[in-house]
Amino acid sequence: MINISDFVDVRALPNHMVIGAERIGANQRELMVVEDPATGSPFAEIPAGTVEDVNDAVATAKSALEKSWKSVTPQERGRILSRTADIIRRDAERLACIETLDSGKPIREAKGDIETAAQYFEYYAGIADKLQGDTIPLGKDFISFTLHEPVGVTVHIIPWNFPLVTTARGVAPALAAGCTAVVKPAELTSLTAIILADILMEAGLPTGVYNVVTGKGSEIGNALTSHKDVAHVTFTGSVITGKTVMQSAADNVASVTLELGGKSPVVVLKDADMDAALEGTLKAIFMNAGQVCSAGSRLVIERAVHEQMVEKLVQRSEAFDIGHGLQDPSLGPLVSETQVNIVDTYVAGARERGVEVATGGNRALVDGLEEGSFYQPTILNNIPVDEIVAQEEIFGPVLAVQVVDSAEQAISVANSTDFGLVAGIYTRDITKAMHFARDVGAGQVFINQFFAGGVATPFGGVKNSGFGREKGLAALASYYQVKCVTTRI
Ligand code: NAD
Repeated sequence: MINISDFVDVRALPNHMVIGAERIGANQRELMVVEDPATGSPFAEIPAGTVEDVNDAVATAKSALEKSWKSVTPQERGRILSRTADIIRRDAERLACIETLDSGKPIREAKGDIETAAQYFEYYAGIADKLQGDTIPLGKDFISFTLHEPVGVTVHIIPWNFPLVTTARGVAPALAAGCTAVVKPAELTSLTAIILADILMEAGLPTGVYNVVTGKGSEIGNALTSHKDVAHVTFTGSVITGKTVMQSAADNVASVTLELGGKSPVVVLKDADMDAALEGTLKAIFMNAGQVCSAGSRLVIERAVHEQMVEKLVQRSEAFDIGHGLQDPSLGPLVSETQVNIVDTYVAGARERGVEVATGGNRALVDGLEEGSFYQPTILNNIPVDEIVAQEEIFGPVLAVQVVDSAEQAISVANSTDFGLVAGIYTRDITKAMHFARDVGAGQVFINQFFAGGVATPFGGVKNSGFGREKGLAALASYYQVKCVTTRI
């Protein structure tokens, strides 16, 4: 049995929102209880913010933009972001434990997330003093140049599956470009976004530049995304909420970046390195128990290697140890009971329709953690393209295997959903790999390593997976606007 106080001092966990210098506690608002999904036990509480809190936070961010952040030089902005990365690394152990308790993910994955969050601040620290405009040749009678100006107050709406890393992914480029931020973390996993406020303050960020309003998206989301003083909304979450956010941001003609879901394919051709393909597929679907927007939740595989691959996938996944994230198991819990029920409903429906369940397909019962939200690693075999489990995002440890007879058919099956976030291919044939890269509908293509890339590689979707790009230099375009100045001389 895990004793969480061996890992984290729960009395020191944040229980407040952050609006400028103000800390609004859980005792001042309706209270939201934070549970450990591995045990179902509450271990923290946070306040449910109100529309007034949203208005205060946006007003604070607007005022900080004009009164302090604009006066900080780009070089100093970069130094603050760089110190933020250092402090995140200094506190990595504690932050990772909190992330695991909050989301359930195995501690090695949480440590990876915290390191990636540090890398976002480091990466954008380096760009803060290099965002510069152009000169435009108009002939000898004119001088024309562009200025890169921060868009203003930015809102960041965060899902529960990668709490700190998604916050860092949006906030670091926004601050580098000179914007201020209001963050709305997910109801289930708000803690590290709140702690980030203290880290940024220690790094020297002026008060009010980074604010956190906790609470229910359904109650305060619209107030945030339609606020007249918000210039840009970076939303990461489900397609249905993304559409609402886009409509709401239209009230104020604010720009939006939508990072939505996926049903991404891992294509394995018969000439592939099968060991690499096996490891890649396992990681693609079982990392964070499949609760990953870019999960490879469909294995699209050539018939010649289909049976051997499924046999190995079944063997490996049946050998997984399932347990509390702090014990670093192969697979941790899902984020909540609600999520387990969503996943189970998809699998039960598929079973009723006659889908072959090669392994898994039920809740997982873990000794000593009977109240935990666990689900077995599940492989559904021989799935036709129009089957629901091949079309809809399940967001759990469920792989749909689709068999094809050629590289061309693999591309067509890869493209057979309304999503287009990422796509992977395993093959030794560079021409086939490049045809796939050219023809697949996805924002990011991985060849011979699923999830290849890092903070520098642009990320985002096509079709229902959203639009706009995060990560890399591409992300900065959301956070500055180009002003063109032209003079006759
Ligand atoms: P969700 O859409 O339910 O919630 C996301 C966030 O939106 C939460 O903070 C929530 O409080 C907030 N929200 C809810 N209603 C709102 C409203 N009306 N206005 C504004 N904000 C509102 O998604 P989730 O369940 O937290 O996360 C899972 C989904 O997120 C999956 O579909 C997954 O694919 C997607 N996701 C995408 C990416 C990506 O980068 N593309 C990354 C992680 C998760």
